[in-house]
Amino acid sequence: MTETPEIFDRIYTRHGHRCPMSTLGGRLGLAAIKWLGDNTGELQAIYSNRTCATDGIAETTGCTEDKGSLIVKNDGRHALTLSTAQASVEVELTTEALEMAGRYRSLCNRLENGSDGLEADEQVKRRAEMDAMLDELLPQFWQAEDQKLVQKKSKD
Ligand SMILES: [Zn+2]
Repeated sequence: MTETPEIFDRIYTRHGHRCPMSTLGGRLGLAAIKWLGDNTGELQAIYSNRTCATDGIAETTGCTEDKGSLIVKNDGRHALTLSTAQASVEVELTTEALEMAGRYRSLCNRLENGSDGLEADEQVKRRAEMDAMLDELLPQFWQAEDQKLVQKKSKD
């Protein structure tokens, strides 16, 4: 099993569980910071979807809703705008990234459906199946090239 890179470890600690969207939020945050370049000053983030991704964004950019530096809108896209006083960049998850994350969600939906009434050992078995998929999927998100997961929208 691939060891979790430190930054993603921190994301999962903040977030409370491992999942594709918190991981992809981290990839969005890291890519946005890289593409923003070394502009100094306070960062301001806007993310257009309330998902697990916000914790990945918070951990990688330092912008949080508590501090008022992360604003979450709900326009259904998976796009992050990161700005300083001098510059701004918008990044969005690719269709491929969303499809990869969607496969995990379908598995969860299927396995969680009616799971309350199940015997404990069947629940453990289903949990193990979901964990196995994460063990396979998350390293792909850690290691993929930026452009496989994130597209940059030019704002200038
Ligand atoms: Zn999550």
